[in-house]
Amino acid sequence: MRTDFLPFSKPALGDEEINEVVDSLRSGWITTGPKVKRFEDAFKNYVGAPFAVPLSSATAGLHLTLLALKIGEGDEIITTPMTFASTVSMIVLSGATPVLADIESGTLNIDVARVAEKITSRTRAIIPVHFAGQSSDLDPLFSLARLHNLSIIEDAAHAAGTEYKGKRIGSFDSVSIFSFHPNKNITTGEGGMVCTQDESLAEDVSLLKFHGMSREAWKRFASSGSPNYDIMLPGYKYNMMDIQAAIGIHQLPRLDGFINRRKEIADQYNRALEEVQELSLPLLAPYQQRHAWHLYTPLIKTELLTIDREQFMSELKAHNIGSGLHYKAIHHHAWYRKNMPVDDSELPNASYASDRILSLPLFPDMTDSDVDDVVTAVFDIIKKFRR
Ligand SMILES: *Cc1c(COP(=O)(O)O)cnc(C)c1O
Repeated sequence: MRTDFLPFSKPALGDEEINEVVDSLRSGWITTGPKVKRFEDAFKNYVGAPFAVPLSSATAGLHLTLLALKIGEGDEIITTPMTFASTVSMIVLSGATPVLADIESGTLNIDVARVAEKITSRTRAIIPVHFAGQSSDLDPLFSLARLHNLSIIEDAAHAAGTEYKGKRIGSFDSVSIFSFHPNKNITTGEGGMVCTQDESLAEDVSLLKFHGMSREAWKRFASSGSPNYDIMLPGYKYNMMDIQAAIGIHQLPRLDGFINRRKEIADQYNRALEEVQELSLPLLAPYQQRHAWHLYTPLIKTELLTIDREQFMSELKAHNIGSGLHYKAIHHHAWYRKNMPVDDSELPNASYASDRILSLPLFPDMTDSDVDDVVTAVFDIIKKFRR
């Protein structure tokens, strides 16, 4: 057994990131400034979006996008139960009603046929999540959106670098929201980006992110600017700082390399685990795409074992292997059970996955021998607890 603990995720931070942060600290300009602008330009260039707004998190991006689209009381937003809580919490906090559509059993992405069934006269938007870095099936979602005059808001927290039919996520005619939390494909410590084709939406999000202020501080305090400003509307405080963007500036050029390494690791898991009856491995969608492999999420078929998923995770830990839970389905969380109960029979695939899913370690700096250690531990546990 390995002697040191293998975490399930770890950001790949090098000297360039470190030196750039130090440079910000020494410059005296640490909050929103020229480095945020550099990161914004580089990111929108990479994904192919005409407009991008850097923010303090993807959660902030979801919040402001819903506000900018004037979504609220009386509106319904269709999304997936297999997501991080913030996707759905932001809908609830906007005053709108989240409507959960079941996922496909293999990709764990939202099932477009189930989305179609949930559309009513109150539906305003669909929020697909590109689960684990694999693109949702966007073509039929955009067809539905056009037919019913709905907005598509892509929760692209897992999808920096993901492509759908040859086009990067971020370049579609929608709003897409990326996360730079340390577990995601690239990081800024904390951070997010809203990408869109819609200039006025980008302006609204931009205004809302910083007090509703007509011009940002760094422009006002630059030698060419004037310190005067106006409050156009009451806004929030969701700006990204230069010390965050300093990290992102050097993460972004490494993203394609990170994804290549993530794919190698996922392939290694797939080859090693494909014959294991007690696991159901993540499947690839049939359309052409680039999977960014943010997560590797097998389902543990607990019906074939004497232990449940929690015990399986503890056993991994006893082997010095970390694991993650992405995700317990939304309708299984306490607040949603109490306030918006949904019967498991309405969301059979998400309910099945929710009790069985776990995330095995996957990050660019993992070695082949780390992957072997995980595989060995998984085999040991299954052998020991097989029914
Ligand atoms: C991480 C994540 C978010 C939230 O991102 P933050 O930047 O942490 O706010 C939203 N949705 C999904 C699917 C995520 O994985």
